Amino acid sequence: MLSVGLVGVTGHLVEVEADLSAGLPAVVMSGLPDTALNEARDRVRAAVVNSGERWPNRRITVNLLPATLPKYGSAFDMGIAAALLGAAGELPLAALDGVVILGELGLDGSVRPVRGVLPMVVAALRAGINRAVVPLANAAEAAVVPGVTVKAVETLHRLVAYVRTGGALLDPPSDHPPPEPPMLDLADIAGQAMGRRAIEVAAAGGHHVALFGPPGAGKTMLAERLPSLLPALDDDAALEVSALHSVAGLLPEGGRLVRRPPFQAPHHSATLAALVGGGSGLARPGAVSLAHRGVLFLDEAPEFAARALEALRQPLESGRVLLSRTGGTTEYPARVQLVVAANPCPCAKPQGDAHCECTPLARRRYLGRLSGPLLDRIDVQIELMPVTAADLFVTSGGGEPSADVAERVAKARAAASARWSAERWRVNAEVPGPRLRQPPWRLPPRDTQPLRRRLDSGSLSARGFDRVLRLAWSIADLDGRDRPNVDDVDEALALRTGGGRRFDG
Ligand SMILES: [Zn+2]
Repeated sequence: MLSVGLVGVTGHLVEVEADLSAGLPAVVMSGLPDTALNEARDRVRAAVVNSGERWPNRRITVNLLPATLPKYGSAFDMGIAAALLGAAGELPLAALDGVVILGELGLDGSVRPVRGVLPMVVAALRAGINRAVVPLANAAEAAVVPGVTVKAVETLHRLVAYVRTGGALLDPPSDHPPPEPPMLDLADIAGQAMGRRAIEVAAAGGHHVALFGPPGAGKTMLAERLPSLLPALDDDAALEVSALHSVAGLLPEGGRLVRRPPFQAPHHSATLAALVGGGSGLARPGAVSLAHRGVLFLDEAPEFAARALEALRQPLESGRVLLSRTGGTTEYPARVQLVVAANPCPCAKPQGDAHCECTPLARRRYLGRLSGPLLDRIDVQIELMPVTAADLFVTSGGGEPSADVAERVAKARAAASARWSAERWRVNAEVPGPRLRQPPWRLPPRDTQPLRRRLDSGSLSARGFDRVLRLAWSIADLDGRDRPNVDDVDEALALRTGGGRRFDG
């Protein structure tokens, strides 16, 4: 029988062999089984018996190939049951030639959904297998993969009846998935000109963002609307992101690819596993992978445990998460745009509030938790003021809608990716600073004068200098200029040191 094993989001075709021989009745499994596979032995036996089939009382050897592939999870159950019924001579298996079989068995003979069916079916197709039998609850998900004929079963009995007497398999549900709810729109945000501009520039250049400000300044509202400014996922990206959500068991019901840049906002109390992935068996991708090609939002970022923030360092650098597992390492993609939000002060009162009794040291220490791993990589850092009543009334007609901003962002991204096409960068945030200080990208001294002054006076670090340059290019891209002018550099400097205060170099 053919099945599929997942390592990360990559599926590998697995052959399930069964052999019956003389000897004491027993089931021996080989081929690097993990704990779940050993449990499979008990599930398969109960399911076979409770489906009205005869359990072969002989020595049964089940082997999963290739032996070197670590195998996690319970998706092999149905293949194992079919293989051993075939070996026992109970079932002619020719009808399942060239068909990949996926599904966990319940003790009663029911077929249960498994995580990761989408990338499993994709892997089968790449290996030349274009027919799949999957759990009914996974059928819609499997059917979104173009070029595969998907059939479903809800019981082992249905599969047996199909093989033995040509009984019917089920079709994937054909009802259309419900329409997606509208995305949160920038038009909802009153005032906050600087905050709006900051996330527009961030969207254009793929820059990470830090939003500082008291509660009520709209940090969360802005962060939640960043995905609405990003380009929709193309086919490859949609498949990749959907595969991650499938492995997490979080794909929206009804069979639909994830087409929007995802948004993940883990709480600061989230476990390390919830943040970067983990768990027993087939590892669950964490928030940083579920946000792949989208936005990871850390609200009240200084409240996250130090080791949680530290664990994000590697994915932010490499765009992937490595999880150590028994039998090897699992890798999940994790290329995210990071937005962190923080109160400027541990008491969460506005700056200058008479009731704030925090010492300057306490404040520095609070934000200091973000330095190092995170703030170092964040280009846009601004401080937001609370929205005033005047803002609310003046702009009661609403701000510019996301769709209009997204159009500018798309043009800016196209300009940037054309400029860097000879290199390996797609967005300005990926361009190393030194590159922007060398010809042909070096700006004339008169345009970088405000920056040089701050560098000389020590109020801007060399790293900060490079970040401002990157932002200036994104601003020029948004405004349709082929290189930044002095105004773009000025605005970039404001997005870097917004509110006049610096949070790091
Ligand atoms: Zn305070």
